[in-house]
Amino acid sequence: MSERYDHFINGRHTAPVRGGYFPSSNPATLEVLYEAARGTKEDVDAAVEAAGQAFDNPLWRDLSATRRGHLLRRLGDLVVEHAEELARMETRDNGKLLREMRAQLATLPEYLYYYAGLADKVQGSQIPTSNIQVLNYTQREPLGVVGAITPWNSPLTLTTSKLAPALAAGNTLVIKPSEYTSRTVLRLAELATEAGFPDGVVNVVTGYGAEAGAPLVEHPKLAKISFTGSTATGSAIASSAAARFIGCTLELGGKSPNIVFEDANVDNAAMGVVAGIFAAAGQTCIAGSRVFAHRSVYDELLEKVADRARSIVVGDPMLEATELGPLAFDAQQQKVNSYVELGVSEGATVLTGGRRPDVALPGYFYAPTVLTGVTNDMRVTREEIFGPVAAVMPFDTEEEVLALANDTQYGLAAGVWTQNLSRAHRMARRLDAGTIWVNTYRAMSPMSPRQGFKDSGVGIEHGLESMHEYTRLKSVWINTDEGPV
Ligand code: NAD
Repeated sequence: MSERYDHFINGRHTAPVRGGYFPSSNPATLEVLYEAARGTKEDVDAAVEAAGQAFDNPLWRDLSATRRGHLLRRLGDLVVEHAEELARMETRDNGKLLREMRAQLATLPEYLYYYAGLADKVQGSQIPTSNIQVLNYTQREPLGVVGAITPWNSPLTLTTSKLAPALAAGNTLVIKPSEYTSRTVLRLAELATEAGFPDGVVNVVTGYGAEAGAPLVEHPKLAKISFTGSTATGSAIASSAAARFIGCTLELGGKSPNIVFEDANVDNAAMGVVAGIFAAAGQTCIAGSRVFAHRSVYDELLEKVADRARSIVVGDPMLEATELGPLAFDAQQQKVNSYVELGVSEGATVLTGGRRPDVALPGYFYAPTVLTGVTNDMRVTREEIFGPVAAVMPFDTEEEVLALANDTQYGLAAGVWTQNLSRAHRMARRLDAGTIWVNTYRAMSPMSPRQGFKDSGVGIEHGLESMHEYTRLKSVWINTDEGPV
């Protein structure tokens, strides 16, 4: 009998009102790990109610911003203490390499510490209006109950990116993690309670998107929705939020270009291309899935990337020597494979990969795959595959590659490999994406704001700016004269 996990509502493990549970399994071994509560509207109602009461509770409402920061700092310390436990939990849930998870857990507390420090630095201002008898000032206030819906590819990091600024600003939260990865987010909520956050400030309702996510988005008492996931779901959430005039922050999909110029250090670029698309088995929003190589270095780059792809050790994500784990679930493997088949039917050539590799474990493994003979108008170069599949294309001029790179519905990130400083700045200016990396790929920090352009998102995560996503601005006018003004 596998373990069973309830929702976490009002500081307590809470059984689902309708009583259902659903299984969650390990994508490397296919064993059922645990059952999680299958949330419905009734559970969401209870969680939003608890979060609403916690928002009005003087224990939280009247806590100073500095004290909120202390609680976040304590939560950061608890994450440090439980890092290995959390890393192993998440690897078992989604198949991400244990060593990648250990690296994520090494930086995760920094998110909590950063927003802990920011909690008491968000302030209003005094406005010098033309009427000197009137004092006008602004203050930033928390919004209320924030709904956070997160995906399965990096549940802890992506949830913390929302939780930390939302709590620093004084909001309360109802989190709906992905149905594929319930466990670590539940554990994070338990640790938040242990850190001293009052009951009801952090709540988690587990379950499926349509059954638990949709009622959360539609809940009339929700003040804001913060979502990370696919562009299709994000669009539905944005419509629902717009109909009720509540704000939303959306971090969505990508089809990021990784561009290698003729003046690049090709060895470094090849490593960057490999890390850009094969890290986390390509299951990252920022995956550099469209690789553009200048025709003069195209063959050299391709050979280096393909050689490295062939030598990548695929297998058990728990082992130190493994370089690529499984895809997170069955449908993911089918989706990746069908995209590769589609590419071939559109005229692409599979240079390497394109199949399940020889791995003893029964899980959803897929070999690092490089496609050539592709053009930027095929479905494999236009749609997000979310797997370890790089499409490599040659180009001749800077203008041409700029046009190709920007010719996409997405605008999340872009990589540029060049030794030419002027070109680096030119590209950074003209690429239509929220994050630009030059001679590196994937660098990230809680301090650095991240915004998806075009269909890749709305609003900002990370950095000082994301605090503003979780506050509203009030303007106060006070007559300082004895008579009416
Ligand atoms: P998804 O949209 O299928 O699901 C995300 C979350 O939304 C899950 O918790 C799911 O249960 C919930 N959900 C699904 N339908 C819903 C509905 N109708 N109403 C409310 N909630 C609903 O996405 P996914 O497959 O879990 O995640 C992969 C996607 O996330 C990729 O497109 C990837 O690019 C994107 N992503 C973006 C970022 C970023 O920062 N931009 C980061 C990671 C992942």
